[in-house]
Amino acid sequence: MKPAPFEHHRPGSVEEALDLLDELEEAELLAGNQSLGIVMANRLATPDHLIDLNGIDELRGIDVDDETVTVGAMTTHRTLERSERLAEAMPMLPEAAEQIAGPAVRNQGTLGGSIGEADPAGNYPAALVALGGSLTLRSADGRREVPVDDYFIAYMFTDLREEEIIESATIPREPFPPARTGMSFLELKRAAQTWPTVSAAASVRVDDPAAAEPIVEDARLALANAADVPLRVPDAEAVLEDEPLSEAALAEVAEIVTDAVTPEGEMHADREYKEEVAGEYAKRSLVRAYDRAVGGPGDAGGSGESHGAGGSSGAGGSGGSSGADGSGGSSGADDAGATDAA
Ligand SMILES: Cc1cc2nc3c(=O)[nH]c(=O)nc-3n(C[C@H](O)[C@H](O)[C@H](O)COP(=O)(O)OP(=O)(O)OC[C@H]3O[C@@H](n4cnc5c(N)ncnc54)[C@H](O)[C@@H]3O)c2cc1C
Repeated sequence: MKPAPFEHHRPGSVEEALDLLDELEEAELLAGNQSLGIVMANRLATPDHLIDLNGIDELRGIDVDDETVTVGAMTTHRTLERSERLAEAMPMLPEAAEQIAGPAVRNQGTLGGSIGEADPAGNYPAALVALGGSLTLRSADGRREVPVDDYFIAYMFTDLREEEIIESATIPREPFPPARTGMSFLELKRAAQTWPTVSAAASVRVDDPAAAEPIVEDARLALANAADVPLRVPDAEAVLEDEPLSEAALAEVAEIVTDAVTPEGEMHADREYKEEVAGEYAKRSLVRAYDRAVGGPGDAGGSGESHGAGGSSGAGGSGGSSGADGSGGSSGADDAGATDAA
């Protein structure tokens, strides 16, 4: 099937896009068209107008300063995946980006499109929930900051108002000092082009990576495709904090997660299976994040590019790879000019 007829508008600025959003009836924003195109082709959405954001350069780019990481809504998965600044400062984001579908989707799809679509299986929604991010939503009346926890309300239903555009996502850096933090985004999926069965986003900060038994100071855990919204599990995080990572604590985490999730059964994965996978992947993702925080043998030199590889080792063991290279405190750079070439 083909989409129903629509009129295409290509504004050159956010102001222009907001004006169009205000004046046009039945209008939809268009970003990378990797999800909307499918929905429209199936006539599940039949907007009369598409407001194409691809001509708005101010919505693209990655900004890392001492306090925050900010990603513009029209930044593509490919740019996120390849950003060295992000690999150093917030490695969960490139690791989440690089696992989305294949290069064709990653070259076009955007962070803002993923947040706008708000699929609970989405990679960035879970990553942003784990990292305590916030969104800048803009309308003709100005901007408002919304914590991601308040943004995702129910299944594919969000706090975004009809007259608003997602401008950017921001994550505070202070809880995640690169020298003592490891991050992991781990997916179970049947094939590269499929959406994940379940994903687990984890971040672990330790007190002293060089200690014989580094203590977990801060643990973050969020699951994707395990509930009707991306699900953070604070009870599981609390179990890990203030002690070294242990098998006993991880077993408790798995139990808490299995109880906390409320996934929908799918053709290839019924509800019980997804509950079990959620518990197991939560554990694996946390172990990998911990390994990266303490820097196993694979971390020597801290290239910051190997965040996506590697299996998990045993609790407190080594062998994970590092996205946190200890350089810390980077500032000022901006990937706004990064290209999206495959
Ligand atoms: C084969 C395939 C596999 C995929 N696998 C995964 C996966 O494993 N994990 C994953 O996370 N994603 C996956 N995706 C989805 C992919 O990440 C999409 O790129 C993304 O969900 C939508 O981004 P987009 O830029 O293409 O948005 P579009 O399709 O253009 O728009 C999606 C929705 O967001 C709205 N929107 C877009 N931009 C804004 C904005 N700035 N402000 C407000 N609303 C906005 C649009 O109006 C629309 O409703 C997959 C897609 C495909 C085709």
